[in-house]
Order: sequence, then C-alpha cells, then structure tokens
Amino acid sequence: MYINGEWITSPQMFPVFNPATGEQIGAVVDGGREDASRAIAAARAALPGWSALTAYERSSRLAAAHQRMMARRPQLAELMTREQGKPLKAALNEVGYAADFLLWFAEEAKRVYGQTIPSSRSDQRFLVHRQPVGVVAAVTPWNYPVSMLTRKIAPALAAGCTVVLKPAEATPLCAVAVFEILHEVGIPAGVVNLVTALDPAPIGEVFCTHPEVRKLTFTGSTAVGKKLAQAAAPQLKRVSMELGGHAPFIVFDDADPVHAARGVALVKFLNTGQACISPNRIFVQRKILAPFLDTLRERIEKLRAGDGMDAATTIGPLVNQAAVDKVDRQVRNAVELGATLHAGGRRLLENGLDRGFFYAPTLLSGVDTRMLIYREETFGPVAAVIAFDDEDEVLAMANDTSYGLAAYVYTRNLSRAVRTFEGLQFGIIGINDINPTSAAAPFGGMKESGLGREGAREGIEEYLETKLGGFSI
Ligand code: NAD
Repeated sequence: MYINGEWITSPQMFPVFNPATGEQIGAVVDGGREDASRAIAAARAALPGWSALTAYERSSRLAAAHQRMMARRPQLAELMTREQGKPLKAALNEVGYAADFLLWFAEEAKRVYGQTIPSSRSDQRFLVHRQPVGVVAAVTPWNYPVSMLTRKIAPALAAGCTVVLKPAEATPLCAVAVFEILHEVGIPAGVVNLVTALDPAPIGEVFCTHPEVRKLTFTGSTAVGKKLAQAAAPQLKRVSMELGGHAPFIVFDDADPVHAARGVALVKFLNTGQACISPNRIFVQRKILAPFLDTLRERIEKLRAGDGMDAATTIGPLVNQAAVDKVDRQVRNAVELGATLHAGGRRLLENGLDRGFFYAPTLLSGVDTRMLIYREETFGPVAAVIAFDDEDEVLAMANDTSYGLAAYVYTRNLSRAVRTFEGLQFGIIGINDINPTSAAAPFGGMKESGLGREGAREGIEEYLETKLGGFSI
C-alpha cells in the first residue's frame, strides 16, 4: 500500500495469481478500515498544498507521469498480461490508452475556466469560480487494471483534488506499478494514496461514510455501484459511476455482412469479452444472417486461446472460476431453450489450459427474449446472435434493457445511421465503428450503466465544484 508518500508493508498479505496458469505471481498488503481512514487523513492533509499549486505545476507532474508510463510501457504491459491475462499486444495498447489520460488531463488542468456574468444591478458583479471538490475516493475494476486508474486519478489531480484508491483484489500489482510512477515523478506525499484489500466491503464502507471524502468515483458492476451510491447518499457525497453494459450490435442488411462480422469478431473477443462496452446482443437483419454467421464462425475458429505472453495467443483467460461458471450457465441455458451452437460452448482444458480459466470462443444464433443471455451482461467470449426484420423492431429490442452504456450500428444508409444514433438510449454509439473510445471523448452510460462521464472535457468537471461570488461594489 502507499499512504502519505510511503510504501507500507505488513505481515498481513494476500496472494495474486496469473489467471492463465494458476501460478502465484505476488502478494500485496491486505488492508482494512484503519488503513483506509489513515489514507483519507493523508489525502485531507495534502489537499490545501496540492490545490494551491498553479494549474501549470499540477499539469507538469501529470505530463511527467505520462512520459514515465510510456517509457515503462513494456514492463507494465508484461505485468498486466501476467496478472490479468490479456495478450501482450492488448496490454501494450492498454498502457498507451492509460497514459493518454495523464497527458489529456495535464492539458485540461490549464483550461479550468470560470466566468463573469452581467448583473441587472449596476453595483453588482457576478464571478463564477471552479474549485476542486476535495478528497476523492476511487474504486476500480480488474478488467482494465491500469487505464481505469488513470482515467480517475488524472482528472482528479488536474482539478486539484487528492485521491485514495482501492484497486480490484484480482489486479493490485498493476495498481502498485501505477503508484510507483506517481511517486517517482514527485507527486507530493498524501496527494495520491493506495489501499489494497482482499475484502473490498470494509474499505468501501469507510469511503462512503468518512466525512472527509467529498467524492466517490467507481467503476465496476451495477450491483456494487448501486450499493456504494446508496451508502454515500446520507452525506450527499458526489458520485461518478461507470457500471455494467449490455451493448447491442445492430447490423442492417445494407451493410457488408463480412465487414460487419469481422468488426464483431474484433470487438466481441477483445479482453475475452470482459469489457463493459463488449457487444452482448448481436442483432442481424434476416436477409444477411447466413453470410454474417459464416464469417463470424470462421473468425472465431482462428482465435487462439492461451497464455498472453505467448505471441501466438489472441485470446486470454477469464478472470476466475466464477466467471467461467457464469458464461457456461448462460450458454447452456440458451442451448436448452433452443439456441443453435455454432462454435465453442465449453471450458478449454487441453494443452495445459486446465490450469487457467479458459472458455472457448462461442457463437450462438437463434437467441431470444427467454434466455438469460438476452437480459444479463455476459462478460465473456460469447457472441449471441438474434435475427430481426425491421428498424423499428430492432430499436425497440436494443433499448429493451436497464443498461445504457455502448451500442454499435452497421449501415451504409446515412438517414438510418442518424435515426439509430438518435433513437438508441446509450451513452456511446459506434456507427460503422468498433472503437468509439479515446481519452479525448466522453465515456459513460445512461440508465443503470452509470452517472457522469470520464475522459474528454467532461472528465474534469466531475472533480470540480462551481462557486458563485456576488460582489457589491
Ligand atoms: P465489481 O463491481 O465486482 O468490482 C469492481 C470493484 O468494486 C473492485 O475493486 C471490487 O473490489 C470493488 N467492490 C466490490 N464489492 C465492493 C464493496 N462492497 N465495497 C467496495 N468495493 C467493492 O465488478 P468487477 O467484476 O470487478 O468488474 C466488472 C464490472 O465492471 C462489469 O459489470 C463491467 O461492465 C463493469 N465495468 C464498467 C466500466 C465502465 O466504464 N462503465 C469499465 C470496466 C468495467
């Protein structure tokens, strides 16, 4: 753990495993309530000094962290592959994406503008000022164990806030590596603090109830996000919530089915389907269903599951046994209720894969509303295809979910692209585009997928309060 500028050790540790091999790759301190309180006290003490620095000074520290992260990209990526399982190339991409947030918010730090507002009284002036919300508590997930940290830490620091972060228990080593970088570039003691713990609940409780925490930012499941938002409500703490998704991917029959299927194969199996913006329901217009399924099956059969450190690996393991069980349950339920299984549909056990949590990339068609996979986020390597007939029908089906994070549309008809962009109740929409994400673009969900946005100009707003001054002169 890292509290008040110091690395904390303890005899109380918990192990960290490689999900591809089952090997223990390290251990971190198992922190508790007192550690969380101590970290919050350090962040509170560091707040006046950090927020009083000029934006230019805060910006230069973030820019230095960006440089250092890029210099350490190969080592960080390797650690991520061993701890989280994604193929090394994907881990390298994630480190680049994570570093982007440091640079983006180094720049945005200098653009926190206020305003003056004309008054109807000649003796009055209105001045609107933006100031940091204060101490920020952050909780992050394991699926993107570096970028989900910088997406919160960078805007918070840019705004002048101080931070206490609890990473996911499956990927604390990546968090330690990020904090090493922040330490090395001279972020002052107490400005950023890291509390690791095997049981997240006591730390979450302190974060939500400690009076010095002014803002809670969370990325993870909708169920946990709701719990934390409720616990933070009595003190009306500011909350940002980046939660689960159930993305529709709609392919109209005016699109090239081969091109669309290749797009689905790329985005669906990225990170073994463990992404909040992973397509979960693939709606294909009936006329092009056959060529679409053929191409998707071919692509799936080419995927190579294995240890991400092996250059031939294109798809890594799931995070743990519970994830394998959840995916398998959804697949079995769909097949029992009449879905057709074209590929996969089982845990992978051959060639040493039994040591890790591998599930075969899976293709299902004939998925319908009775099946679990139609309603639940899968978070695994299963492409679930549903045929549709017309635009109104597919829009209604796509929006028929309590989630509202990402959606994708493939069409060559401009009017239809605009209509679906406007009609889909989701926060991020890719039109003929499978990667609508960037540090420069607002990321976040509607409905039960969350509150607030990360990245972009909006990202720093989440860490700022608006203060009005009325001056009688
Ligand atoms: P999770 O909610 O189980 O865990 C997320 C984090 O919350 C972890 O750090 C965990 O330790 C912590 N946590 C769990 N219970 C807690 C409690 N009682 N108090 C405090 N902290 C607690 O989710 P997960 O399985 O790690 O991640 C997968 C989920 O995250 C998916 O639903 C996915 O869609 C979502 N996600 C969303 C985004 C986004 O930006 N919207 C990004 C990545 C992941």
